[in-house]
Order: sequence, then C-alpha cells, then structure tokens
Amino acid sequence: MKGLVYNGPRDVSVNKVADPKIEKPTDVLVKITTSNICGSDLHMYEGRTSVEKGKVLGHENLGVVVEVGAAVERVKKGDRVCLPFNIGCGFCKNCERGYTGFCLTANPGMAGAAYGYAEMGPYQGGQAEYLRVPYADFNCLLLPPDAVEKEDDYVMLSDIFPTGFHATELAKVGPGDSVAIYGAGPVGLMAAHSAFIRGAAKVMLVDRHADRLKLAEKIGAIPIDDSKVDPVEAIMKLTGGEGADCGCECVGWQCHDPSHGHEIPNMTMNNLVKSVRPTGRLGVVGVFVPEDPKAEDKLAKQGQIAFDMGLYFQRGLSMACGQANVKAYNRKLRDLIQAGRANPSFIISHRLKLDEAPKAYDKFDQRGNGWTKVVLKL
Ligand code: NAD
Ligand code: ZN
Repeated sequence: MKGLVYNGPRDVSVNKVADPKIEKPTDVLVKITTSNICGSDLHMYEGRTSVEKGKVLGHENLGVVVEVGAAVERVKKGDRVCLPFNIGCGFCKNCERGYTGFCLTANPGMAGAAYGYAEMGPYQGGQAEYLRVPYADFNCLLLPPDAVEKEDDYVMLSDIFPTGFHATELAKVGPGDSVAIYGAGPVGLMAAHSAFIRGAAKVMLVDRHADRLKLAEKIGAIPIDDSKVDPVEAIMKLTGGEGADCGCECVGWQCHDPSHGHEIPNMTMNNLVKSVRPTGRLGVVGVFVPEDPKAEDKLAKQGQIAFDMGLYFQRGLSMACGQANVKAYNRKLRDLIQAGRANPSFIISHRLKLDEAPKAYDKFDQRGNGWTKVVLKL
C-alpha cells in the first residue's frame, strides 16, 4: 500500500510500504478515508524526536473497518470509525480510570501509545491506505449515520478537538469564565471552541499569525497579536486588571518559529502564569519534549524550560498537563457534532490527496501562510 514515511528532518515521502495485517485477535484493519496532519507531527518533521526512518506517520485517523480479528465483538466490517490517537488497552490501571493517554499495556515502560509517533510504541500511522487498530473494541469510536456528510468534523475527534477540550477541562473552564489561550494553531482554536461550549464568557487567543487570529475572531474569541502588543498587558486590560479565570497552553515546546523568538522555550508558560488571576488554573496541552538536541540553550537541550516558580507560588495557581485522554471525551464531543452544537471542521484550510502530503508538511510547518489544518483524503 502507499504511506507517508519519515526519512529525516523536513524530509517525508509517499512510498510503497508493507500492508498492515491482523496481528492479534483483538485487532481490526481500517481502510483510511481521512487522516490529518497535526502540529504534533511537526515535532518529528522538524527533527527533534528519535522517530525512526521509515515510520509511517499519521495519528488523526478515520475510516471504514475492512477486516475484524477473531476476538473482536463490538466492531463490525463496514463500520465507520474514528480512532483516538492514543492506543489504550482498556483494562490497565490507567485506562480503567480514563487515563487512556497513559496506557500501561500498549507501550510498556513508556508514557502512552499512539499511531505513527516517536517513542509511542511500534504502531504505524494512518497517513496511508490501511491501518491496524489494536484493542479494537476499545479504540474504535463508532460514528452515527451522518458520518460521511460530517466526516471533516468527526475526524477532529481523533485528536485535536478532544485535546482542546482537555485543555479546558484541566483549566476547569466553566460558565461565565474568562479564558486566556496561548497559541491559535488548530489545538488553541479547538480549546477556544471548547471553552465556548463549556459556557465561557470571554475567550482571548494569543498568536501572531493573522490567518489564525482571524479564525479566532470568527468564532467569537478576542484575538491578541503578540507581535503588536504585550499579551499579558492586553489580557489584564480585558479582565479589569485581575487576569483571566483560566489559562490554556496550546503551543508546547517551541516550533522553532523565529517570528516568536523561540530560542528558549519559556515564553508561553511565564506569560500564562502572569495572565491568570491568583488561584486560577492552567491547562497545558502543548507538547514539551524531554530533550531537544537542536536547542542552543544548555537547559533547553535537556528539555528544561525556565519557569517562574516564585510567581506561580505567590499567585497560588494550579496546573495540570499531558496528552489528552481522547476516549474520555470523544463520545460526548461526537454527540455535540451530531447535534450541530460543535463544528470543529471550521479550522480546515486544505483538503488534499495523500500524494500531496510532502508539500502539505512543508507548507503547514511554515505557519502563518493560511495552511491552518490539512486533511488528507484517501
Ligand atoms: P501549531 O504549531 O500549528 O500551533 C502552535 C501555534 O502557537 C502557532 O500558531 C504559533 O504561532 C503559536 N505560538 C508559538 N509561540 C507562541 C507564543 N510564545 N505565544 C503565543 N502563541 C505562540 O500546532 P497545533 O496543532 O495547534 O498544536 C499545538 C501544540 O499542541 C503542539 O505542541 C502539539 O504537539 C500539541 N498537541 C498536544 C496534544 C495532547 O494530547 N496534549 C495533542 C495534539 C497536539
Ligand atoms: Zn495530533
């Protein structure tokens, strides 16, 4: 079959790769119909992970079940399913508690498993014609009858919609809250969409790319351009000098985007600490990496960021972080899409064929050029 493989930093290509097979009786095979390119893929693409050459990328997948292992009971051939990017077994201590992003079985000794990702287990990705789905009864989200019509919305349930929602859950966003969000990439925009769904009164999104800030404005958020104003001052002004009730970090280990001055990846965390009112909560879903060989700064090389612990303590803030436990949210978010109360596909800028994926990686990686979210159609 054809699949998008990693060859090295900023080098991916569509190659002939091995067809996936049912390996365990709990597996199914899915024919992929849509697979997205994610900001998380760029950590690998930009070369700051240990992902192996030849790995098929793609963890935001949706498709049709074409083959079913002997022990699979719930999922049937022909079902349209969306696949959470994290692979959970469903029965370990963490999965049992809903922390499926940290499954102890699917990638033993590591923190969680995913398709087509560095250090997340031996699983191939879905930017390809077919995908093997382990523990399929647990990992397949069945889609309703409008699955084809709303495929571009439902595919966002694989990752970034639940991830944005996770940011707002960790930050405990509730009715009437004001929310400061750093990063207006796909994840930050999904956090804003989620904050409104949870009843937030005021959502402020910080970035500097006009195309992304325009989308923020379109959904009713207040765009803050940090190339023009100090974002902390702007948030203070918008909240009567108190600071936002809740804060979300949707940037992560910096994208090496020189326009944000990203040499030392501490900017968003310290800005966030200053932007949220004392005793407020911070939800951090931007991915931070344990080490970055490319970083100039000695501490940054070890994956450490400068973080103003003194200010964080003084303000009595609390923070939670990590991969989104997609399974914990995707049913209810699916039902919001079906009910017409959520429409995450508003972030899509490009719908392309798999063969065009290398160009799409290049363009999406540049950011700020209108390539907000690419979905690959197979
Ligand atoms: P993205 O890189 O397209 O978006 C990041 C945005 O942040 C960009 O628009 C960039 O201009 C902006 N930005 C950079 N520095 C900033 C700063 N100092 N202040 C404000 N904005 C700044 O990627 P994305 O797809 O939106 O993903 C964002 C992050 O979320 C990535 O780190 C990604 O790996 C992570 N992620 C986490 C999970 C999870 O489960 N926790 C899932 C998916 C993605
Ligand atoms: Zn993703």
